[in-house]
Amino acid sequence: MLKENSKILYVAGIGPGKQEGMTKETLEALSKSDVIAGYPVYLSLLPEELRDKERIETGMTREVERCRLALEAADSGKTVSLVCSGDAGIYGMAGPVLSLAKDFPEVEVRILPGVTAASAGAAVLGAPLMHDFAVISMSDRLTPFPLIGKRLRLAAEADLVIVLYNPESKGRAGYLKKACDILLEILPPDRAAGYVRQIGREGQQAWTGTLGELREETADMFTTVFIGNSTTHISGGRMITERGYDI
Ligand code: SAH
Repeated sequence: MLKENSKILYVAGIGPGKQEGMTKETLEALSKSDVIAGYPVYLSLLPEELRDKERIETGMTREVERCRLALEAADSGKTVSLVCSGDAGIYGMAGPVLSLAKDFPEVEVRILPGVTAASAGAAVLGAPLMHDFAVISMSDRLTPFPLIGKRLRLAAEADLVIVLYNPESKGRAGYLKKACDILLEILPPDRAAGYVRQIGREGQQAWTGTLGELREETADMFTTVFIGNSTTHISGGRMITERGYDI
């Protein structure tokens, strides 16, 4: 019989915020873990009963260090969960952990998916993702801005619904406006748009309007932005993209 591996690192998506939005699989992995690693804000969102576990906390820009520390803890024989907001494999830690894992051949890495901000935010706004869509991160910390701009233009050309992650931050003020200006080269100013701030967390806030109006809004690192395709409309305050049904 195969011996159950004792060196396990879960890379777990915890969903957008509230505990009800976390999968049962992630909750079980967290309660089985000896150590929980993650960005402090995410650790503060975890259920009460998990808060006294051993912790590995590092700041936002020390992701690789956090991944390595989590792998080292797992390699020492502890069961470890590295938590990510939303889905672990969407701008999450799944990639760097798997790349670093070659140095830790005895550690089994298990990736646990979670509800990503695009689907959680879409549910708040209505049904904006009923057809093909592109998710684009506005962060140029690791991606050159010209490539981000190219992706925005081509997604607009292709009539995709567009979801923006990391729309702006203190260090990247004005990036939402920059994104809108690029999109407005191709899309009309009356194109339906929306955003949700703090999805599933205290202070959740939703907004709908047009792309032209979105240009005058500001966002932060806890905002997910939606720009509709040519069929998207706002009806009764809900954002709806047509699939083509005869209704
Ligand atoms: N792994 C995450 C994404 C990490 S990138 C996921 O799958 O959702 C971080 C960006 O995700 C934020 O800047 C924001 O655009 C979006 N985001 C994550 N959680 C959010 C929340 N609770 N409310 C609004 N946006 C969120």
